[in-house]
Amino acid sequence: MPGVYISYPFCAQKCTYCNFASGVFPKDLEPVYQWRLLQEIEETKWQWTPETVYLGGGTPSLWLLKDLKAVLNSIPGGPWREATMEASPGTLSAERVDGWLEMGINRVSLGVQSFVEKEIRRTGRKHTAKIVAADVALLKQQGIDDINVDLIAGLAEQTRESWEQSLDGALALNVPHLSVYILEVDEESRLGKEVLLNGKRFGAPDVPSDDLQAEFYERAVERLAVAGILRYEISNFALPSHESIHNLKYWRLEPYVGFGADAHSFDGKWRWQNVEDVKEYALGTAVSPKRELADPANEKYWVGLRLSEGVVAGSRFGKQISQLVGDGLLEWQGERVRLTPRGVLLSNEVFQEFLNE
Ligand code: SF4
Repeated sequence: MPGVYISYPFCAQKCTYCNFASGVFPKDLEPVYQWRLLQEIEETKWQWTPETVYLGGGTPSLWLLKDLKAVLNSIPGGPWREATMEASPGTLSAERVDGWLEMGINRVSLGVQSFVEKEIRRTGRKHTAKIVAADVALLKQQGIDDINVDLIAGLAEQTRESWEQSLDGALALNVPHLSVYILEVDEESRLGKEVLLNGKRFGAPDVPSDDLQAEFYERAVERLAVAGILRYEISNFALPSHESIHNLKYWRLEPYVGFGADAHSFDGKWRWQNVEDVKEYALGTAVSPKRELADPANEKYWVGLRLSEGVVAGSRFGKQISQLVGDGLLEWQGERVRLTPRGVLLSNEVFQEFLNE
């Protein structure tokens, strides 16, 4: 059953680590974007009814309720089995959450990243651990228990002690889903660029080493497992039956359609991606996205292997799989092959083996 992704790329601030096509844009761009988004959805010839909706970006929790309602009303199939709102801590109110519930939103993903104030400030975010606790209490009180909390291992000034503090903070919330990302260092974020240039801004000199980040990640796997929150994808952990139904579609190569700037789509055969530039998208000046023929038999290795369940191995890549099993990076479980704990830490190197052929 397919899913729908909708991008709302507007944010109150641009976080230093963020490498998404999102940010702070002129206020008058938003109505134009809204109009173009509705037009894109209305032009869609639906060949199926969506099972899930995911509102990402960006900070869709800032979306005006009337505008969000117009967008969700144009998506068939509601109420959906799962409809997720990505939210920044501090943007929730009882009125907003009630509005979301009325529109069919039944899951909220909070971009917390850290529970330690000086680390949060370094990212450019403004919340505190207290605000996060209040947001989670509000969601539960209004009737949304399906909550995810995002954490990042590798923020500037993070130490073993402060990482334990963030894990304590996340576990104390009693939420059924956690995402733990290792900091991505690339040219697309201000912090990433600064680290690559050995610069001093955004706390770049205080970013923990790769080894320490890997240690933080493994500590998270261990502590979450003790709480029964198990890893089901490299960065995603859930109590049994609380995995994200929408996100599983990406890794299981099921179809999804994305709307808005930079949104990706896959119809089971073709992949395409909307223009990344928010202004170009809103003004409709971009050329139509180019469709590329997908190759699920290959893609399953560098997409599906992200899952703890692994993938059913096909006839291709026998040599690479044997080699990776020999190196202790992959292991067999019946007819499925999956990453070992060491393979998870070196997953990019593993995926490279399947991309190079
Ligand atoms: S991390 Fe989230 S809130 Fe921060 S700039 Fe990126 S999309 Fe916006």
